[in-house]
Amino acid sequence: MKIFTTRFEIEKYLLLRRNAGIAIGFVPTMGALHQGHLSLISLAGQRNDEIVCSIFVNPTQFNDPKDLEKYPRTIEADIKLLEQAGCDVLFNPPVNEIYDGNDQWHLDIGETEFLLEGKFRPGHYQGVTQVVYKLFSIVKPDEAFFGQKDYQQFLVISKMVNHFNMPVKLVMCPIMREADGLAMSSRNVHLNTNDRLHSLVLSRTLNWIKENFRINDIPRLKKEAERMIGAEEDVELDYFEIADGETLHPATESSKKIVALVAAKVGKTRLIDNIMLRP
Ligand code: AMP
Repeated sequence: MKIFTTRFEIEKYLLLRRNAGIAIGFVPTMGALHQGHLSLISLAGQRNDEIVCSIFVNPTQFNDPKDLEKYPRTIEADIKLLEQAGCDVLFNPPVNEIYDGNDQWHLDIGETEFLLEGKFRPGHYQGVTQVVYKLFSIVKPDEAFFGQKDYQQFLVISKMVNHFNMPVKLVMCPIMREADGLAMSSRNVHLNTNDRLHSLVLSRTLNWIKENFRINDIPRLKKEAERMIGAEEDVELDYFEIADGETLHPATESSKKIVALVAAKVGKTRLIDNIMLRP
């Protein structure tokens, strides 16, 4: 695997590859890699000639400086995992390679950035669009792979790509879970044994909603889900929503896609998860 830390070097290398007609599949991450990330790498490899992964803990998407500080960083283990997974190129830049200190710009992608996660993490999606815009303009991938785990993020990035007519195809990949249902996340390392047990209420509730889903029953289901999560010890619910998969407003009968989304603090760790109810 080739490892680049500067824009100049990776751009030079990828220009040659692109000119040779190589299709580039890109997987942006913040590192502390797990099977969820590796499933994106694997799909990128099935559909492209060359896999590029980035590891960059993006400071502008953290609204809480403590969260940024304690974000897990495991670059050596990550490099091993990427090599085993057949990744061709890793881009692992320092912060000043991406930001020169003058990045006050903000892309208006409409209300999506203010709903759900946006309410609880002000500015988060501004940071996400900034960094993904920059990474896309450096890597210029044919396809980019994102997890359904961050469902709203996928919508936000889709809006950005449409807005700029960026020549990249976005691919949404399924959520990878631990055997007991917990959605894999780099943040799960912060869960202690007690938290780990209580965290299961999220996937359990989402599954219950899926099994019992009836379009006319949404208010009752939502209430019951809130009750189930609220009753779990050491779990503090931020939101539970049964939403239209395109607008993220409460779902209606005419919603083409419907998704249930949840965010909660389990102990001190904030987790998100979701499940498609009408794919
Ligand atoms: P992150 O490193 O958390 O920014 O995640 C990088 C990419 O991996 C994002 O597109 C995430 O949606 C995706 N991802 C994170 N966790 C999972 C998971 N459990 N299953 C599938 N994809 C995931």
